[in-house]
Amino acid sequence: MALLFHSTAARLPIWQALFAQAAEPFIAGEQFVTDPAEVTAIACWTLPDDLSRYPNLRLVLSVGAGVDHMPLMPPGVALARTLAPGIEAMVRDWVVMATLMLHRDMPVYLDQGRAGIWRTHPVRLASNRRVGIMGMGRIGALVAGSLSALGFDVAGLSRSGGVGAVPLFALAEMDEFLARSDLLICLLPLTPATQGILNAETLGHLPQGAGLIHAGRGAHLETQALRGALDRGHLSAAILDVTDPEPLPQDHWLWHDPRVVVTPHIAAQTDAAEGARHALAVMRALREGATIPGLVDQARGY
Ligand code: NDP
Repeated sequence: MALLFHSTAARLPIWQALFAQAAEPFIAGEQFVTDPAEVTAIACWTLPDDLSRYPNLRLVLSVGAGVDHMPLMPPGVALARTLAPGIEAMVRDWVVMATLMLHRDMPVYLDQGRAGIWRTHPVRLASNRRVGIMGMGRIGALVAGSLSALGFDVAGLSRSGGVGAVPLFALAEMDEFLARSDLLICLLPLTPATQGILNAETLGHLPQGAGLIHAGRGAHLETQALRGALDRGHLSAAILDVTDPEPLPQDHWLWHDPRVVVTPHIAAQTDAAEGARHALAVMRALREGATIPGLVDQARGY
């Protein structure tokens, strides 16, 4: 029962050391597999070419927080994602930064600054700014706590709704949720149900002058709908960490529109040691028949 490491070379020494310390069987790459029957789990971002080579494979672990890049697994093979408090805190920090940037009109002041224009705009209290978080999972809930602590009027949207630390809307109440989101934050997983969810119709439900903060996945957003909403003045600005495609081509309008700030998918980066510790917890759970941390519901897609 071993984990096959099929990820970047830079992470390998850290994984190798932590697995050795824990006396957990570890194979450093496909070239080191002597008996494919030993492989019960594979840690990777991109799958090896031929999974059927591993007759006892029970689990594929994505070395990142998302699994939208993964195909449906063969029967009997579970899929898990990496849960890492560090990743979640990094995304939280990026989202708080972006929220404050839009709250305090930074795209406007950066644009004015390039032209040497000293012009002030009204400042609003955070308590007068309604923030809506699409996706109230591990990261959304963390963001909600931090923005609430800063005084923002926060609500969230999840698939199931229910009761949370902030008002929680269900998918069926999306229009109502959007209508109260002066700043909309997308922290959804990418699934068939959420692809293109930021489109002309949904952006149209936001209040006049709303701002968009997007750290989910590029394919959530129809960029032409964003452009239309900005051009009509319906949206005032957007800060995007994810785009479609990635990398975003140099001549793409998103780079050159002063109302848009783009960062190159850096809200979070997986820390090798955190990833390895999660993989160790997964292997322990697999051996003990316990609930796998980060187990993905493959039918739901997250
Ligand atoms: P979770 O799986 O913990 O949470 C997902 C949330 O989205 C849940 O609240 C879920 O609802 C909700 N949801 C799923 N589908 C829908 C839908 N159709 N409509 C409304 N709500 C829906 O995910 P995380 O918080 O860990 O991560 C969220 C995403 O953040 C990742 O999938 C990834 O895309 C992105 N991310 C981006 C990073 C970056 O660097 N930019 C880094 C890390 C993550 P319910 O609670 O009802 O299940």
